[in-house]
Amino acid sequence: MELWIASSNTGKIKEFQNLLFDFPTVHVRTQNEISGFTTREENGDSFLANARIKAKSLRSIKNEAWVLADDSGLEVLGLGNLPGIHSARYAGPKARDSENIAKLLKMMKIRNVSDRTAQFKAALVAISPTGEEFTFEGLMKGLISTQVVGNHGFGYDPIFIPDGQNQTLAELGPGYKNQKSHRALAFKQFLDILKAQV
Ligand code: IMP
Repeated sequence: MELWIASSNTGKIKEFQNLLFDFPTVHVRTQNEISGFTTREENGDSFLANARIKAKSLRSIKNEAWVLADDSGLEVLGLGNLPGIHSARYAGPKARDSENIAKLLKMMKIRNVSDRTAQFKAALVAISPTGEEFTFEGLMKGLISTQVVGNHGFGYDPIFIPDGQNQTLAELGPGYKNQKSHRALAFKQFLDILKAQV
């Protein structure tokens, strides 16, 4: 079975591959393999709306396989839930992860944010080969660290300390995220649907 992932984010794709480790019959393909493919503009006002835009864009080309899209991001309470749906481009349209992190820490400092409560959210939209749509959501709560620490993962992992932990996600590594991340929690719901087909 082929599962086409509507993402070009290598960090996310790697996490989906890890999550499918026990399902060798599911072959992960990605939109990067389709030359000239561009997704429609992600102009939705929620993670779910943007995940649906990505899933439908890929489905318009890949209509004989499962398609899966993830839209996700970080909400920082003291910043009015920013960067939220703007997480990937917080510091500008082509911002690197390190630039987004630097902007986030700077904004927290400028605004004198003392409550460092934050959460990661993921919305997944899956479309089956027959065109049926499924949606799943996942949440991980935690705190924004004052220092950038750790080498694993991607995005804001080096500044996010999950509840109950004293290390960042970038220190805790893939084993932890596979079990507890917003993406893993949403993906496990999707797996329940997929298992019935494999
Ligand atoms: P998207 O590809 O438009 O959904 O953007 C997601 C962005 O949110 C990423 O580029 C990261 O900046 C951030 N993000 C989402 N999930 C994670 C995660 O698991 N760890 C760290 N950052 C994440």
